[in-house]
Amino acid sequence: MAGIILRDLYKRYPNGFEAVHHQNLEVNDGEFVVLVGPSGCGKSTTLRLIAGLEEVTSGEIRIGERLVNELPPAERDIAMVFQNYALYPHMTVFENMAFALRMRKAPQEEVVKRVQEAARILSIEPLLERRPREMSGGQRQRVALGRAIVRNPAVFLFDEPLSNLDAKLRVQMRTEIARLHRSLGTTMIYVTHDQVEAMTLGDRIVVMNAGVIQQVDGPLQLYEAPANRFVAGFIGSPSMNFLPGRIEGEDFIGEGFTLHMGPGLPAGSAELGLRPEDLLSKGGEQQLPEVELEVVEQMGHESLVYFTLAGTQAVARLEPDLELRPGKRICLGVNSARCHLFAGDENGRRLTPTA
Ligand code: ATP
Repeated sequence: MAGIILRDLYKRYPNGFEAVHHQNLEVNDGEFVVLVGPSGCGKSTTLRLIAGLEEVTSGEIRIGERLVNELPPAERDIAMVFQNYALYPHMTVFENMAFALRMRKAPQEEVVKRVQEAARILSIEPLLERRPREMSGGQRQRVALGRAIVRNPAVFLFDEPLSNLDAKLRVQMRTEIARLHRSLGTTMIYVTHDQVEAMTLGDRIVVMNAGVIQQVDGPLQLYEAPANRFVAGFIGSPSMNFLPGRIEGEDFIGEGFTLHMGPGLPAGSAELGLRPEDLLSKGGEQQLPEVELEVVEQMGHESLVYFTLAGTQAVARLEPDLELRPGKRICLGVNSARCHLFAGDENGRRLTPTA
């Protein structure tokens, strides 16, 4: 097993595009780290640099104690699982899983033992004689995982491994990957653009935007104390609401309302961030201006209501209530401890002190 260190990692593609900007990251031995961010933010590039599938422009990659910049993928002691399973169609599941071991000239006895062990972990023992075309997408993805497991690598790298599966299967495979990590204890780096996958799998999550790491933290820390407006807007569904305004003294002044926030805030342009569940239909220390509901989604366990607040589209997550209908006017309350403030400039850094 091994940890991974990225030091000042930079990647410029031959066409001049800068995909990864001076990243610094330490992944601990045995940790499950998820790289998440919108399409094109450089997640796959970062993973492929670690795997050795792309050449580093500058900076360092260490796996365990070794500087691996110059090592070919096969010598990095990693196994990678991709979105398209990349199974050999003419081989059985057993042979697909055994392939890497056979290339290493492992004795037959060991090949059988390792393949059977991996098949047992993934519950695919009855499938060992099938060929890929005779299996469902979920089964194929399990075989792809099995192929990685038999190699017993120091590090697993996953590039959106579940995005070809339907929603239900994705949830099921997600829990299997989490279980796999618990039982193997191997370092894993997992790339996804799906924030639910990131939040549920990661010990720590690396949020990226435009090739730059925005924040590295545990799921709850990211949710409760996003480092900037980008992270605040990316993590959480429905997204955080943002209201423009300014800070004056201890107050946030938005369009048509003022909220008391407390001391220690820098004066000037700012945005107020409110999570949909922090807009309250009952209670709250302070009240927002009355709004008219435009769309109401009754989900059973909760109701999502959409409206225009201070000139901005906003959403609240409320207790289920049949009285909530489009056209109804309601007043929502907030507690200042649940308000997030961000600088009004393009960096949008967090202004609210972190507890
Ligand atoms: P996605 O979730 O869509 O896969 P990503 O975050 O994984 O996105 P990357 O695949 O790492 O993003 O790509 C990052 C940026 O680098 C993108 O803008 C992409 O167009 C660009 N890029 C990727 N590969 C190359 C290449 N070989 N040459 C030039 N630019 C590239």
